[in-house]
Amino acid sequence: MPAAFGQTLQTLMKQNGWSPADLAKRTGLSTATITRYLRGGKPSADSLLRLSRTLGIDPWTLYGAPSARLAALAEEWSDDDRPRWSYSKLADYLRCPAFYYFRHVAALEVPSDPDAVIGSAAHAGIEQVLRARAGMDAEDPQAAVIGRVQEEAPYLAPDDEGNLPDPEALARESWQIVQVYQDQIATTFEPVAVEQRMEATIAGVRVTCVLDVIDSEGRIRDTKTSKRKPTQTDLDENLQATMYDIAFTQNYGQPPKGMVFDYLLRRKSGIEAMSFPVRERTDADRNRLTRIVEEVVQAAESGRFYPNPLNKYGCGRCPFRDACYEEFGGGLPAKEQAIA
Ligand code: SF4
Repeated sequence: MPAAFGQTLQTLMKQNGWSPADLAKRTGLSTATITRYLRGGKPSADSLLRLSRTLGIDPWTLYGAPSARLAALAEEWSDDDRPRWSYSKLADYLRCPAFYYFRHVAALEVPSDPDAVIGSAAHAGIEQVLRARAGMDAEDPQAAVIGRVQEEAPYLAPDDEGNLPDPEALARESWQIVQVYQDQIATTFEPVAVEQRMEATIAGVRVTCVLDVIDSEGRIRDTKTSKRKPTQTDLDENLQATMYDIAFTQNYGQPPKGMVFDYLLRRKSGIEAMSFPVRERTDADRNRLTRIVEEVVQAAESGRFYPNPLNKYGCGRCPFRDACYEEFGGGLPAKEQAIA
């Protein structure tokens, strides 16, 4: 990424007299995200477009490099002010509408979760492994892992005993994941597209998907880091897989030739690689997702937010417990949670 991005951002903020918190409020991004960009972090295309619209500058000038894809995205964006949806936003609302509210509407800052940092850093390294295999420009995968952990390290939260996670240990485990992927999964297929961003329209709602890999057989492959194996039901009913199927079909005029979820399981004994084929999506799957998108987007856009403490992750590790308690009387405030 051009180093100019963070500097240009800084200059434009200064010209407008905006702090990172001011810009965060105007763009709907979090202050931590803006601060990360100022320190050289890489923006997603959607974040870049939000920033460019708010700052009144075209995205490729802001980014510091020409990009036909960004130009096309900017054009699409300019005639529609509604925010785009993604699978993760949908999943956040389905998990707990209050959680969605704090994360995407109030855009509260949240500390980085060590598991999420490991997942993100491993993905960054795996992306470089795949780019090299696909003959694309690629960075050193280990450097990409370390870089991602360094970006996240300032935002790591202390554990219950007040100890901060060790960034070096996080980088070590992330790198082990990349090595296992490189040895046991990357050799089993040929990537032809890596981190392929796609726009799709579902129930009239524009959604963005980023496919980890499309292989030479026309299959989608998605990489997951997890501590547990998925069940058959997890795979069969997976809404993300259905969203990928719809996006692929809308973009290429035909469904993918298959889909595989590559799991890197973080066991106490080490990293275990397992690949799971995902069954073909049916009209019933697509109709179900369409209905869910329609209902969730309508609910979120009309401000229907309420706590759902019975969600499958519970409230124990929710970063919004205190805010939730104050706003909705939901969840447990962090102090009481520690005593309970
Ligand atoms: S504390 Fe529980 S109910 Fe409240 S936002 Fe978090 S997950 Fe939802």
